[in-house]
Amino acid sequence: MNYDTYGSSAVELAIDLANAELDPPAGVETFLTSHGEWFTAGTTLKLSDRDAASVARTSALVRDVALAETQDDVLTRLNELLTLARPRPYATDHDGELHLHYARPDASALEQLTTTVAMGLSQVVVQHGWERLGVCSAEGCDNVYVDTSRNASRRYCSNTCASRSTVAAYRARQKT
Ligand SMILES: [Zn+2]
Ligand SMILES: [Zn+2]
Repeated sequence: MNYDTYGSSAVELAIDLANAELDPPAGVETFLTSHGEWFTAGTTLKLSDRDAASVARTSALVRDVALAETQDDVLTRLNELLTLARPRPYATDHDGELHLHYARPDASALEQLTTTVAMGLSQVVVQHGWERLGVCSAEGCDNVYVDTSRNASRRYCSNTCASRSTVAAYRARQKT
């Protein structure tokens, strides 16, 4: 996976959103603020209750896509998410590198977020396959992830979960 593209970092935003504690509205605002680099400077990150609830819905849809177990389910859920997107690409070099953004710069935070997440996730699914999305295998963790490893061998959402599971497996072996 070419990991330097805007699309592949947008999918990381989608995964972060799916795994976030979003309790609207405060949790949503915290999420937006901690991902402030994704929004055009000057975008209001304080949302109405209605928009905050929509962010939580987008998060749930991303999660649904990641959890889908058949291509048909992936398509249905991905298309549901895409109906919420309002793509209007534009070229920018705001960070020094020429690249495309998916949402128009003056869109609301909700529209920028939903569009970026839906387009980023879709790009990765159609280019690299929906099997690249999964749910963490660690006990007690239900975070989703996108597998960007060369051989598609990822099973955990984070290094923390991976090492926690290794330790647990080691202890289980010691007991027997
Ligand atoms: Zn950018
Ligand atoms: Zn995990």
